[in-house]
Amino acid sequence: MSDIPPMIDTEGLSPAVRQQILRCHRARGEKALKAVDAGKIRKYLDFYVVTGQTGEYVVEEDFCTCSHFTYRGRCCWHILAAEIAARTGLYECRDEWYVDRLKNEKWARQTI
Ligand SMILES: [Zn+2]
Repeated sequence: MSDIPPMIDTEGLSPAVRQQILRCHRARGEKALKAVDAGKIRKYLDFYVVTGQTGEYVVEEDFCTCSHFTYRGRCCWHILAAEIAARTGLYECRDEWYVDRLKNEKWARQTI
């Protein structure tokens, strides 16, 4: 779990909540909030998927498929964005399995 102020559950992304996220997570928080504002988080039946600058990343709880997470093992902004979206309901809901989508895409063969 990321460090997100508990009042997000009642206030949503109020100015106070945003400020606290930014104070706590700095650049990571800023990227996460921007992505949430831009509607870049989708919730599939199996995973949250965050669209970043260079591709789509699959987030599952404390795990993310981006290189930042893979190589440094640290919480990246995708995980933060997915959690903010999950807590506020600010995501696009997809009634399909992301795994099924992957099967139809070329790069899936390289990463899975
Ligand atoms: Zn990531």
